[in-house]
Amino acid sequence: MAYVVSLFRGGWKRSIRIVVVFVCAVWLLFETFLLLRFNTLYSTSIASSVFKTNPIEAKEMVGLFFRLSNFIPVLLIVLSIYFLAYCLAIGLKKIMQSLYFDCIILFLLICGIPATILNLNTNFPRYYQSSFLLRALTSSWVAHRSINYIGNLNQIQRRIDFVVSNDTLSLPNVVLIIGESLNKNYMHAYGYHLSNTPKLDSLIREGRVVKYTDVTSCASYTNAAVSRMLTLYNLVNKGQWYEYPALPLILRRAGYDTFWLSSQEKMGENADEIASLASLFDGTKYVGAESADLAVSCYDESVLPYLRVAKEKPLFQVVHLMGSHYNYSQRYPHSFYKFDYEDIEEKYTKSEKTDLVNYVNSIYYNDYVVSKIFEHYNNSDAIVFYVPDHGESIYELDGKIGHGTGLQTKGTFSIPMFVWMSDKFMQDHPAEAKSVRLSSTKPFTTDLLTQTLIDLMGIRTNYDRTVLALFSNEYQPEEAIKRKEIIFSPNFDK
Ligand SMILES: [Zn+2]
Repeated sequence: MAYVVSLFRGGWKRSIRIVVVFVCAVWLLFETFLLLRFNTLYSTSIASSVFKTNPIEAKEMVGLFFRLSNFIPVLLIVLSIYFLAYCLAIGLKKIMQSLYFDCIILFLLICGIPATILNLNTNFPRYYQSSFLLRALTSSWVAHRSINYIGNLNQIQRRIDFVVSNDTLSLPNVVLIIGESLNKNYMHAYGYHLSNTPKLDSLIREGRVVKYTDVTSCASYTNAAVSRMLTLYNLVNKGQWYEYPALPLILRRAGYDTFWLSSQEKMGENADEIASLASLFDGTKYVGAESADLAVSCYDESVLPYLRVAKEKPLFQVVHLMGSHYNYSQRYPHSFYKFDYEDIEEKYTKSEKTDLVNYVNSIYYNDYVVSKIFEHYNNSDAIVFYVPDHGESIYELDGKIGHGTGLQTKGTFSIPMFVWMSDKFMQDHPAEAKSVRLSSTKPFTTDLLTQTLIDLMGIRTNYDRTVLALFSNEYQPEEAIKRKEIIFSPNFDK
C-alpha cells in the first residue's frame, strides 16, 4: 500500500501517467484474453455477458479468464509486449520526459471522445479499427441500450393476454431453420444455372424435401422479418408486432420445450428485436456470440454440435443461420470455393463477378450445412422447415448489392422455402405429411408462418385465423396475394 502511495508522490502529471498506464495494462490483459479465447476484441456481446444479461454468464466469463490454461498464455503475450515496449521506451525516454508525451496522450484522448460520440449511433461500430477507449465505450453503451430495450419488449410480450389449447402433442421434433439473405433465383433448385444446391436437388428428387415455389418474404431486413415471422402479427394487422403473442410463448404454454440456436450476433442495433424474441425461449445458445459484428462471425456449421433432439417433452427448435449475409466471402470455408469467375454470366463486370462468385459459393456451403441439420434427425420423428428472413438484391438496381429499406427489389423478397420430413414422421403423421406436400405451389408470405406452424402442430389460440395457415384445408391463397401487393407497394417498410 505504502508503495502504491509512494508512486503517486511526484506531482499530478506523474499520477495521471500511472493511472493511464495501469488502465491500459489491465485492458490489454483483458482483450488479449478475449482474442485468445473468443477470437474477438471487446464487443457488444462481450459487454452484455460481463455486466448483464445473466449473472451465470458473467461468472463463467470471469472463471474462464482466471483458469490457468487461459491465463498463462495471456500473461506471456502481455509480458512480451511490455518487454518490447520497455526496450523501446528506454530509447524514447528523452521524448517521454518532455512535454510532447503528455501532449500525445491528451491528443489521443481528445480525438477519441468525439469519435466515440459519433460512433454511438452507427449501425456497425467498427470495433477492430477503433481505439480501445472508443471500443470500450461504444460496446458498453450499445449493450446497455440493447439490454434495456430488450427488457421493455419482453415485458410487453409477457403481458399479452391469450389462451392456448391443444388436445395432444403429436409432433415431437419441430425444427425451424431461419436462413439469411437468400435469393432463390441464385439457387440451382430454383432454376439457377450453376449446380450450387446438390444436396437439396437430390432430396427433392427422392421426395424427401418439399419445395415451395411461391413464397415472398414479409420484410427486407432481418429484425422486421423475424419479428413478423415469429409472432401472430401479420402485415394487415393494426399496431406493432410485439403486441401479438410470440411463437415461443404459445409453444411453451402448449407444453413444448423451446430452444434457440444461433450463429448470428447476440444483440446490438440490428438484432435487438430478434434477441428479445430469442430470450422468450426456454434455452438459447449463440455459437458466434462473442464475435464483434457481422463482419467477423463463425461458419454456420458451428451450430451442428448443439442441435437437440426431443427428450421427455416435445421440442421446438429454431436454428438461426448467418447464411449468405454480406460480406459473402466470409460466409464459407475455402474448401467450398467451387465456382469461379468464368462460371458467372458475361454481362457482369469483374468486381461484380467477385461478389457473385462469393454469393453463389455461400449458397453452396449453406446447402451443405442445411443437409447436415436434416441428417441429424434421420432417425427421429421430425419435421424441419427452412425459410430465410429475406432475399438479397444483387446488381438489380443502381449497381447495388444488399437488402433493407433502401434496397427493395424483386430479389429482396424472392425467397425459397422447403420442408424436410423424416421417414418416421411420414409414417406416423400421414395427414400432416400430405397437407405439407399439397401446399407446395400455393402463394405464401412469411408473416403467416407462426399461424401456419401452430396450426400444423394442432395448437389453437384465441387469436387463431386458420384461413392464414398454409397447411390448413381452410387456407385462402388470396390472403397471401393481398399481402404480396402490400409488400411490393412503393412505400412498404419505409
Ligand atoms: Zn437478414
